[in-house]
Amino acid sequence: MPAATRPEPEVPVLIVGGSLVGLSAALFLRSHGVDVLAVERHAGTAIRARSGHLQLRTLELLRSVGLEDVVRRKGEEQYDPNGGINNVESLAGREIANYFPDLNTGVAEFSPTVRLFIDQDKLEPILRARAEELGARLRYGSDCTGLVQDADGVTAELTDAGDGAQSTVRAQYVIAADGNRSPVRHRLGIGMHGHGTLSNSITIYFRSEIDLEPLLRDRNQGVHYVTNPLLRGFFRLNRSGNAGFLAVNLIGDTARPEIVAAYPDAPWANVAEGITEQRALELLRAAIGIPGVPVVIEDIATWQAVAEGADRYQDGRVFLAGDAAHVVPPNGGYGGNTGIQDAHNLAWKLALVLAGTAGPALLQTYDDERRAVGNLTVEQAYTRYVTRVAPYLSTQDVQPLVDDFSMEIGYCYNSPAVILGPGESSSVHEHPGASRGRPGSRAPHVVLDRAGSRLSTLDLFGKNFVLLAGSAGAAWCPAALAAGRQLGVELDAWQVGGDDLRDADDRFSSAYGISPAGAVLVRPDGFIGWRVIDAAGASPATLVQVLRRLLCHA
Ligand SMILES: Cc1cc2nc3c(=O)[nH]c(=O)nc-3n(C[C@H](O)[C@H](O)[C@H](O)COP(=O)(O)OP(=O)(O)OC[C@H]3O[C@@H](n4cnc5c(N)ncnc54)[C@H](O)[C@@H]3O)c2cc1C
Repeated sequence: MPAATRPEPEVPVLIVGGSLVGLSAALFLRSHGVDVLAVERHAGTAIRARSGHLQLRTLELLRSVGLEDVVRRKGEEQYDPNGGINNVESLAGREIANYFPDLNTGVAEFSPTVRLFIDQDKLEPILRARAEELGARLRYGSDCTGLVQDADGVTAELTDAGDGAQSTVRAQYVIAADGNRSPVRHRLGIGMHGHGTLSNSITIYFRSEIDLEPLLRDRNQGVHYVTNPLLRGFFRLNRSGNAGFLAVNLIGDTARPEIVAAYPDAPWANVAEGITEQRALELLRAAIGIPGVPVVIEDIATWQAVAEGADRYQDGRVFLAGDAAHVVPPNGGYGGNTGIQDAHNLAWKLALVLAGTAGPALLQTYDDERRAVGNLTVEQAYTRYVTRVAPYLSTQDVQPLVDDFSMEIGYCYNSPAVILGPGESSSVHEHPGASRGRPGSRAPHVVLDRAGSRLSTLDLFGKNFVLLAGSAGAAWCPAALAAGRQLGVELDAWQVGGDDLRDADDRFSSAYGISPAGAVLVRPDGFIGWRVIDAAGASPATLVQVLRRLLCHA
């Protein structure tokens, strides 16, 4: 019999789901000082690798909360730091395509950090430790079994996975980071749109008794797509050369006559259905390309490759983030990355609204900003799925490929929390070399020098609003600080090219699209909120007006 209901104290933010995105949300919220409780029905963090590819923007965000070094070290234990992505007939066989010979080619121009691979089961404990260090409360083995909203808050019912004891918790806001099946999304009746289920897939986790690395020859390892008449999927083989996983997407869906026609000898068109260890072994050996290669299957997971986004990311006081908001096939490595970036976008907004510094309407910009990115991501992951895995699919509803820099650090926001300048218009994405500080884009990386130490402009962002003025724009700094004080907004102001912060390569004005007398106001998430090209109007009154708009005051 379940134990009696226990009352729970209030918490400003409850997070449902304590995996990649729930942990990130806890971490980012705590870095803004918000008290948070995350509940996760599993007993602990992920036990198997799924997500592995961390994109530039994600590393930038982890850098902002002090995790870049530890994540890079852990990633390098597992994978070549500059591994690439290619497509082979089998590991031992012919290379069909090489998408990225080196993951980090050209990165240094745009970012202070790197792309890398780290398995989800290695990343989550790092996120968890940092979130707890910052004071997040994480409750494992706790299932959120009910959620009721009213005008003042949300009451959640929690059921202990061990003894079935029920309790309630009262929160002002809830983040549903409860994965692709998102019980919270279902409860709210939020629909999904997109391409639907693409394939019933499996992941085969394995160990090899021989070193497979020599099969890679001079090809840098990272991700190896496998395309042969038996299967289509991809390997992530870690640098030990004798462990990793093979994800198999196809041989697709028996309902698709074109697949059946294309592979008349393949009886397992739906690879997940009735999968056995023997079948998995056959597929794995075919993907490695050595008959009888001594490998041990450690686990087999079944999952669906889906490309869909939620119709809304907000319902009253509840926000969807991560796979709850968008589900994409793994191609391009978007799922976890996009979710972590959702959490980052939401955290500063919740913090400022809870503190009373911003108007509640700021929270609606989460849907404006992240749903547009989510929809773009669903389409671009689908494009990569079709090109790399399932070229038999119709190309009619496939978006042209958007390059990876534009996807990772070039997506732009258009919402009331962005003030475009006269004649400016926004786009959903733009190459980071082209946006040049336009409001709504990510603030560009420029190398600075502070007391002889190198840093990036990005190292100035993460917590507060930041005004950056050009070398002749000193007047903007006291004006911004005065405006911040007047509104109770935490704000930093720097003159780039002044005594305290040198513009190491003399790039700042041009990278940010201002004259030396101009300034930009960067939001706590590192996106440009407002920009002024020159010194006209450098007064606290101007900045008060700008901040009030960005903070969505009525
Ligand atoms: C083979 C494969 C490879 C991938 N590779 C990459 C990659 O390289 N890069 C990348 O970015 N992404 C990748 N992904 C996708 C990535 O794994 C997911 O996008 C990511 O895990 C989503 O994180 P999430 O926290 O939103 O959801 P999940 O990881 O699904 O976590 C949701 C959590 O919520 C919990 N939960 C659900 N309901 C409740 C409830 N009612 N109460 C309490 N807890 C609840 C669940 O137990 C679960 O732990 C890959 C996926 C696969 C399958």
